[in-house]
Amino acid sequence: MKILLTNDDGVHAAGLAALIRRVSEVAQVVTVAPDREQSAVSHALTLHHPLRAARIADNVFSVEGTPTDCVNLGIHSLLSFRPDLVISGINRGANLCDDVTYSGTVAAAMEATLMGIPAIAVSLATRNAGEHYDAAALFAARLAVTVFEKGLPPDTFLNVNVPDLPQDKLLPPIITCQGKRSYEGTIVDNVDPRGRSYYWIGTADQSFKEVPGSDYDAVAHGHISITPLHIDLTNHASIALLKGWELR
Ligand code: MN
Repeated sequence: MKILLTNDDGVHAAGLAALIRRVSEVAQVVTVAPDREQSAVSHALTLHHPLRAARIADNVFSVEGTPTDCVNLGIHSLLSFRPDLVISGINRGANLCDDVTYSGTVAAAMEATLMGIPAIAVSLATRNAGEHYDAAALFAARLAVTVFEKGLPPDTFLNVNVPDLPQDKLLPPIITCQGKRSYEGTIVDNVDPRGRSYYWIGTADQSFKEVPGSDYDAVAHGHISITPLHIDLTNHASIALLKGWELR
């Protein structure tokens, strides 16, 4: 099994190091990751300037770009093989509910899926630096073996969130749906040392709606959450409704 690893926290992140260690036990691994943190860049692709890549260790490349750039460069240029699987993570912080739409971690898995390569995004559900990356990485490596054996449905990838708990405290994985966040963003509005206004997008207390069977619900109870996400964002149920509109 040959696996491409990437992330959005940057090539030096602790979560990526744990992933490299554990996945290397089950597969041939090459890492292509951003040279700095790229969290919340979602599916951004760099088109207006060239991208530089540096080989910083055996089978580890650092790229001056986004997670989506990394998957592209990895698969089309840097790797000498087409990977059987792409794993993105382990992200510092959960990617639950509506937050998947901002996530660079999730977008990297989405990019691989667009290329027809099975992919998994893995995040550690922590509000701080995170402690138990190794337990999450061990689970990711086991899941990689299962996905390699069974494959994934078309245009589908897995969004995995692991509670920040020691291995023996983690509850079994649950297959979940994407939950719903009650988003209360905050903007810090202030003046810089040169007298100019600035605004800084912050995060208020994260609150999530209690949706049984959701990703949030599973993680809140100590379970690993596995959500199958689909590239097609169409709301098929609403097609009939909109066809009823008299548009001209
Ligand atoms: Mn991140």
